Amino acid sequence: MRLSRYFLPVLKENPAEAQIVSHRLMLRAGMIKQATAGIYSWLPLGYKVLRRIEQIVHEEQQRAGHIPLLMPTLQSADLWRESGRYDDYGEEMLRITDRHGRDMLYGPTNEELITDIFRSHVGSYKDLPLTLYHIQWKFRDEIRPRFGVMRGREFLMKDGYNFDLTKEDALHAYNRHLVSYLRTYERMGLQAIPMRADSGPIGGDDTHEFLVLAETGESEVFYDSEITDLKFGDREIDYDSHDACRAVLEEFTSRYARTDETHDEDEFAKVPEGRRRTARGIEVGQIFYFGTKYSEPMGATVTDDAGNKVPVHMGSHGIGVSRLLGAIIEASHDDKGIIWPEGVTPFHCGIVNLKQGDAEADAACEALYAALKALGLDPLYDDRKERAGAKFATMDLIGLPWRITVGPRGLKNGVVELTSRRSGESEELPPEAAVERIAAVYAGVL
Ligand code: ATP
Ligand code: MG
Repeated sequence: MRLSRYFLPVLKENPAEAQIVSHRLMLRAGMIKQATAGIYSWLPLGYKVLRRIEQIVHEEQQRAGHIPLLMPTLQSADLWRESGRYDDYGEEMLRITDRHGRDMLYGPTNEELITDIFRSHVGSYKDLPLTLYHIQWKFRDEIRPRFGVMRGREFLMKDGYNFDLTKEDALHAYNRHLVSYLRTYERMGLQAIPMRADSGPIGGDDTHEFLVLAETGESEVFYDSEITDLKFGDREIDYDSHDACRAVLEEFTSRYARTDETHDEDEFAKVPEGRRRTARGIEVGQIFYFGTKYSEPMGATVTDDAGNKVPVHMGSHGIGVSRLLGAIIEASHDDKGIIWPEGVTPFHCGIVNLKQGDAEADAACEALYAALKALGLDPLYDDRKERAGAKFATMDLIGLPWRITVGPRGLKNGVVELTSRRSGESEELPPEAAVERIAAVYAGVL
């Protein structure tokens, strides 16, 4: 993309309404614009990151064997009356009446809708196990929407639902989700720690939340510091293996790590004092096993191999896709702006032309731009007639991990400058070598 033809409405001033750094930087970098309280338009740069995050979520869900579909945002109240949650859900549910006087709602989650799909089409244990998921907008009429996309009223969520014949199989689905989530967050450059949590209105006993440690997080968390040394890394897990998935769950949940809802002082006291930590965290996902809570009242049954009709065991599993943008920025920024991890960056690198209009500099930038694109990379070329300082400030603000700076002086010696946004270190090298270096970095990421 050429910046002169892009739409990147960066703000020079700090917006007064933003209380935390991710909200401030998303507004300043021209990623989002508030449409009304807790509801945002995703401007091109923000939309690009949102799509990259979605893509990673899709890839990791499908790697785990989960099947994508798409359910609507608007739902009929009737299904929620069947499960008993229409009255229970309270004021967070946006209720709408259509022209015929029928009660509708904007879905805050989809257990009822998916259970209805299941009971209409699945009747035999032979069709199990089954996990369906979608990435769709949700609406919760939060009493205090704040912190930009972190606590919106409309937000994008991946929600997945497993259907299994037995509790044991459903617990495997739970463990499988835990594994796939660890992998998903690490691909985004995040450490998200699974913590024992409370199930809230979804219901059920088994549940873990995934928390990214950050001072601005809304949850208070208590953990054994050893847990932060655990990395999932690039291990290949057989998602069909109950033992392999259980082993990962045990590894990542054997140390004390809880949110304030389930925190237990006596248990915490058993952690050696030097390793006890109290901090704040951002919830970026949650997994639940809730058994037959929805399948029983809604009649989602299958025939087992003895010919009996039994309600299926279910769980639901959510990732806060739009909240993740805020969480990643909270975890990765400096005083100049955002620092995108390579896995989610909106553009793979920036090209800064120090002397737009200089025939040699222009030609060198064009050649770099073409070479990067030919390799399947997505560069952002700042081809505007602006001062070098302003170009650097924009690149630093929007946080592309790599920048190639091209100027007449370097070109006389046959070199351009390659700069890492994270370390701030620069290196002079021939343009072809810079392209190779960037290609090599992303070869392990794309
Ligand atoms: P919270 O405790 O933050 O209100 P929740 O536990 O009610 O969230 P879940 O039902 O577990 O939310 O939804 C799955 C994920 O969706 C959460 O882990 C979170 O990342 C995200 N999410 C929930 N509410 C919001 C919101 N208002 N804005 C943005 N993301 C949200
Ligand atoms: Mg939750």
